[in-house]
Amino acid sequence: MTKQGFTTQNVHADQHFGVEHGGIHKPIHTSVQYGYERVEDLIGVFQGSIKGGFNYARQGTPTTAALEAKITQMEQALGSISFATGMAAITAMFLTLLKAGDHLISSQFVFGNTNSLIGTLRDLGIEVTMVDATRTDAVAAAIQPNSRMVFVETIANPATQVPDLGGIGALCKSRGLVYVVDNTITSPWIFLPKTVGASLVINSLTKTIAGHGAALGGAITDTGLFDWSTYPNIFANYRQGDPKGWGLQQVRKKGLRDMGGTLSSEQAHAISLGAETLALRAAQTSKTALELARFLESHSAVQRVFYPMLESHPQHLFAKQHFSAGSWLLAFEVGNEAACLKFINRLKLPVVATGLGDTRSLIIPVAPTIFWEMGAAARAAMGISDGLIRFSVGLEDTADLLADFEQALRS
Ligand SMILES: *Cc1c(COP(=O)(O)O)cnc(C)c1O
Repeated sequence: MTKQGFTTQNVHADQHFGVEHGGIHKPIHTSVQYGYERVEDLIGVFQGSIKGGFNYARQGTPTTAALEAKITQMEQALGSISFATGMAAITAMFLTLLKAGDHLISSQFVFGNTNSLIGTLRDLGIEVTMVDATRTDAVAAAIQPNSRMVFVETIANPATQVPDLGGIGALCKSRGLVYVVDNTITSPWIFLPKTVGASLVINSLTKTIAGHGAALGGAITDTGLFDWSTYPNIFANYRQGDPKGWGLQQVRKKGLRDMGGTLSSEQAHAISLGAETLALRAAQTSKTALELARFLESHSAVQRVFYPMLESHPQHLFAKQHFSAGSWLLAFEVGNEAACLKFINRLKLPVVATGLGDTRSLIIPVAPTIFWEMGAAARAAMGISDGLIRFSVGLEDTADLLADFEQALRS
């Protein structure tokens, strides 16, 4: 059989475990305990000789495992671990793979809460250098003897900077660094981090993958490209079996089991349902976003528009070559803060709310809300002006959103 398309594989991925009682959607398993007829089987699950067994739901259930299989299949990867939120996934990844005295290189264009978490890593004795990741030479210049990991986001929120994903991948490979790519804004339908050499992929399932704004979740995916036998921070306990699996093994035990940021089966089910329409939603919202971006760019009342599929975007060539679409994330400036607030209040369709990747369009002034806590200097370093507006494109008809923008800019 020829290779099936993205959505064909996606909607069937959770049935590879077998169908229970003929139910064609994976059931919501709420049991905390999992029992076995033979005590040897329980021992086998504990010791790992029986693969894929369950014992206590903090470490996963058949419902979360089915979602993990779906994400692994979409990322064309080795394996995934789900968490209660995207931040729980990122926290577990950093705290289980880095130690005091290690050095982390991070893009300076990262999600606000990730930026705040990186401050906590510093307090714990992990050295961090924040760099302009649109330039691989800036990443290379930051490498130290104790560097372990490079962290970037595919399309930064809100100002849409795209790192030199391929150049950084080649650099990490040659220097033996773990390369972590947060794929939240793009999702595996728009971009596969594995194709640029990512070791680990982060997805906040809350955003593009669930897509309905009705569930929180996160995931860490191992692409299988990193040789964990070379990584000094893998505990002796987890240096067992194929070294390709050592990183995830450690994150599942130390990060999920011990830290306990477990995704519930109810939320995993809601995310799975959303994930099945990923390709359809990502195509539609990207199409609308590009039309809005072009309209805004041509309007005299708009100063700047940030969208990777615009020719004016600094990383447009890379985005065009590597991304199947531009995503639902759009940012623009319509003057100072007062003008920006007035414009937002004149719009009728978008909901004034934080959050990203909902069925409904969401709009927010960036500086006085989500990037308020970090202060003016940090905002300036991230390219965030006082009048910047972030727009998360929903599933409304393109023409209706265009008409709404048109009337709001006219008055
Ligand atoms: C939202 C977001 C996160 C955190 O995800 P939650 O599910 O809200 O915890 C991480 N990275 C990026 C790029 C995000 O947009």
